[in-house]
Amino acid sequence: MKRFESRVSIVTGASQGIGEAIARDLADGGATVVLVDVQRDKLEAVAGSIAAAGGRADARIVDVGDTAAVEAVVTAVAAAHGRIDHLVNNAGITRDGLLMRMKEEDWDAVLRVNLKGAFNFSRAVLRTMIGARYGRIVNIASVVGLMGSAGQTNYSASKAGVIALARSLAREVGSRGITVNAVAPGFIVSAMTDALPEDVRKAYLEIIPLKKFGLPKDVSSAVQFLLSDDAAYITGQVVSVNGGMYM
Ligand code: NAP
Repeated sequence: MKRFESRVSIVTGASQGIGEAIARDLADGGATVVLVDVQRDKLEAVAGSIAAAGGRADARIVDVGDTAAVEAVVTAVAAAHGRIDHLVNNAGITRDGLLMRMKEEDWDAVLRVNLKGAFNFSRAVLRTMIGARYGRIVNIASVVGLMGSAGQTNYSASKAGVIALARSLAREVGSRGITVNAVAPGFIVSAMTDALPEDVRKAYLEIIPLKKFGLPKDVSSAVQFLLSDDAAYITGQVVSVNGGMYM
C-alpha cells in the first residue's frame, strides 16, 4: 500500500514550481490531491497529467486571499471526498521594493496572499480535521522569514507570519491529533527566482555552502516527510531546505 493511500490533500499554488512538485509527489504516494491556484490553464494541465499517470487530482480555481471563496471550496472538497487530511499552504507572491518607497498596495497584496491565504485555508479545514482527530498542515515559509531580506520587507514579514501562525496553531490543535509545521526554502529554481538578475543569483550562490540552488523536489521531500506518519511526533517546527545558506 502506498503511504498516502486514502488521504485527501489540499495544495495551494499547485499549478507550477514548488506547489506542483508537492502535488505530484502526493499523488505518486497515493493521495487524492486537490490542486488550488488562480491559473486555470496551467492548473488543469497539471491535474490532467497527474490523472494520466494514474493519480487522483481535483483542480479548483480559487484565490487563497478570498475568504468566502476558500470556505466554499473547502466545504465542497469535504463533501466530494469525505475527508481532508493534509493542507499545504504554498501559494505565494512577491512585490519587492525598499520599504521607504513601497506602495501600500504592494504591502497589502503580499500579506493578503501569503499570510491571509494561510489563515483562510487553515481555519476552513480545521472543522473537518478536528472532527477526524487527524490532520497535517504545512506552511511554506522562506529563509527570508528567518534572516530578513533588504527589498522584501512585505514578503519577509509574511513568511515570518506563516511560521508564527504554524507554531501558534500547533499549540491550539495538538491535542486533536493535528500537527502544524513550516518548511522554509532557500533559493529554489522556479518562476519566482528565474526573474532575479544574474548578479543577485551569483551573490546567493556565494553564501550557499552546498554551492547550488535547490529544486522544487528538494522542498517537496521535506513536505512529504512532515505529512507522513514518520513525522507524527513533530509539530510547531520549521524545517529549512536552503543548502545551508542560513543555519
Ligand atoms: P511560483 O512558481 O510563483 O508559484 C506560486 C503559484 O501560486 C503560482 O501558480 C501563482 O500564480 C499561485 N498564486 C499566486 N497567488 C495566488 C492566489 N491568490 N491564490 C492561489 N494561487 C496563487 O512560486 P514558487 O517559487 O513555486 O513558490 C512557492 C512557494 O514557495 C511560495 O509561497 C514562495 O513564497 C515559497 N518560496 C519560494 C522560494 C523560491 O526560491 N522559489 C524560496 C522560498 C520560499 P501566479 O503565477 O498567477 O501568481
